[in-house]
Amino acid sequence: MTVRLVIFGRQGAGKGTQCVNIVNTYGVAHISTGDMLRSAVAAGTDMGLRAKEVMDAGGLVGDDIINGIVADRITEPDAAGPGFVLDGYPRTLPQAEALLAALGEDGLDAVINLDVPLDEVTARMKGRGREDDTDEAIERRLALYEQETRPVLDFFEERGLLVTVDGLGTEEEVSSRLIAAINEHL
Ligand code: AMP
Repeated sequence: MTVRLVIFGRQGAGKGTQCVNIVNTYGVAHISTGDMLRSAVAAGTDMGLRAKEVMDAGGLVGDDIINGIVADRITEPDAAGPGFVLDGYPRTLPQAEALLAALGEDGLDAVINLDVPLDEVTARMKGRGREDDTDEAIERRLALYEQETRPVLDFFEERGLLVTVDGLGTEEEVSSRLIAAINEHL
């Protein structure tokens, strides 16, 4: 069985942690565009150098670059066979449209919205101490989320793919809620 998922949620909502549980449950590939970009930065590739400035400022890397990276990645054997969970993508409407176009008829099984209130994610992000987690960058990313990413939730909701999961609670509580919600959509 191929399972194609997107996990959605504000930065700091616990997407990364819950992706590990999804990977362990379904054997899918975890595709995090943030991780891929950070690897490109660390490797000092041309794309990495260009992306670094945007990432440090809390902005969004260009749609064409990101869409190209993801379109390539989802055709690799570990993602094409078992499926994948996309983490941090799509973040804009053009990205959402590009993803559905790339998937064609197969489409997505579900888009999970891991829902954690704004004050809670802000506190979590300020506590995690990542290099690009300056106060300005955190605020810019949360503002960008509301402006550019919120419409993507509506886009998937209109297509009957959106499943909202309460992201408050222990990792185990959230995980069992999440897996139950995904199973209902497979
Ligand atoms: P993340 O680890 O998902 O928080 O991503 C870290 C940074 O990488 C973001 O703040 C963006 O600058 C960039 N990034 C990650 N995914 C995307 C995406 N889908 N579109 C544009 N920029 C992205």
